[in-house]
Amino acid sequence: MDIVKGNMGWIEVVCGPMFSGKSEELIRRLRRAEIARQRVQIFKPALDQRYAESEIVSHSDLRIPADLVASGAEILDKIDARTEVIGIDEAQFLGAELVEVAQKLADMGKRVIVAGLDTDYLGRPFEPVPLLMTVAEEVTKLLAICVRCGNPAKHTQRLVASEERILVGAGGMYEARCRRCFEPLAAAASADKDKEKNRKANPSPR
Ligand SMILES: [Zn+2]
Repeated sequence: MDIVKGNMGWIEVVCGPMFSGKSEELIRRLRRAEIARQRVQIFKPALDQRYAESEIVSHSDLRIPADLVASGAEILDKIDARTEVIGIDEAQFLGAELVEVAQKLADMGKRVIVAGLDTDYLGRPFEPVPLLMTVAEEVTKLLAICVRCGNPAKHTQRLVASEERILVGAGGMYEARCRRCFEPLAAAASADKDKEKNRKANPSPR
């Protein structure tokens, strides 16, 4: 954001698929705020404990301490009135209420930076990030690199069989794919195959 006068708050969204550098970009912005001696608070969902319990860690191992929250509303409980900049990572795990929470914080004059997936493993809009994008002052959409062909990648390809929308994981479970190489139905199809296998192995008694 360029010139902001007074204590006007606003919302920034950093979105894109996995492996596009969202956490890295979030950490970069928060570090710069800290260098500017602004009061910063950082939150991430308790659900995401892939790397470290109370830190945001990027795939390239940048890290910054974070408070764990179970819901968007818990951020409001934990916010210090003096905080000027709020960072929120993995927004897709914090539910629809995060939109209202972010709006409230911005209306209080705070800079709110939210990072998260904008689409799920089927390529569908992944709430609340799409809604946050509409209420935000600034949106940065990052792309990853397709592991198949090297083109810019906007999709998160799930490599394991599951139809759960939320399946936390990193190396080996997901990879970045471009529009052409994305196979949204692969994860669902292999989940069907597994179900079929289980049904054959354990036929239900009639
Ligand atoms: Zn590709």
